[in-house]
Amino acid sequence: AIQIRDLSKTFGGGRSLLGKARHEVRAVKSVSLDVARGETLAVVGESGSGKSTLARMLVGLEAPTAGSLLIGGKDAGALRREGPRAFGKMIQYVFQDPVASLNPRKTIRDILETPLKLLCGYEAARRAVRMKELLDAVQMPEDTLARYPHEFSGGQAQRIAIARVLAAEAEIIVLDEPVSALDVSVQAQVLLLLRDLKTRFGLTYLFISHDLAVVEAISDRVAVMYFGEVVEMAPAARLFANPGHAYTQRLVASAP
Ligand code: ATP
Ligand code: MG
Repeated sequence: AIQIRDLSKTFGGGRSLLGKARHEVRAVKSVSLDVARGETLAVVGESGSGKSTLARMLVGLEAPTAGSLLIGGKDAGALRREGPRAFGKMIQYVFQDPVASLNPRKTIRDILETPLKLLCGYEAARRAVRMKELLDAVQMPEDTLARYPHEFSGGQAQRIAIARVLAAEAEIIVLDEPVSALDVSVQAQVLLLLRDLKTRFGLTYLFISHDLAVVEAISDRVAVMYFGEVVEMAPAARLFANPGHAYTQRLVASAP
């Protein structure tokens, strides 16, 4: 579903207008990853290891310094030039802060209906049915539709953000710390929901977390990022049993 080749991102560098050397941060260093259709690849790593920068490049919010990116066999840049619809049909994302990913001025009906209309091209009757199905899938009541994002708790808002992403029926879903902003009991509920949706609908996830324990139950493979590089990749069970890189060993040792 997605092929990432030697993707790099450097922030800063060069010289300012006054000729001062600007501090350079190599946030992502030549990362190569493949995610197959229906697979969940987790990316774990400590704060500042480049996970969100990688995610932001995948969804087009940050331009890579180098490397290539194929989504559904097509070059991501070419897809974006085809327009937001072609791109939105390929890749969707859920971020840490659920409220930030929902437009505060729109009702949930508008938020869910837009992708059903613009990305899937469904007519009104089909959209109404799909909206009910989507709310049902994320276990939210039907009266959700008439309300606004700020009327919901963090966990509820994240469910709605997930429903919005499902509406697009995209090739791949990038989740950047989707439960980190939620309290622990709600985290478990949203994780179970994500896992259930993945198996029911055969979804493809790239799931980012700083916490190995969070991704253990949901991932097929885990890539470990350390200072911008992928230093190790293996199925979760193998990483836990036999971590190779010194950082992974520390990560496993600190997991509950
Ligand atoms: P966290 O777990 O805290 O979310 P992360 O792994 O997602 O961390 P990134 O947000 O990708 O890490 O940051 C990687 C590095 O790139 C950090 O050193 C960060 O300061 C730097 N960085 C990220 N965005 C920018 C930016 N827009 N300008 C300059 N530096 C940036
Ligand atoms: Mg991050």
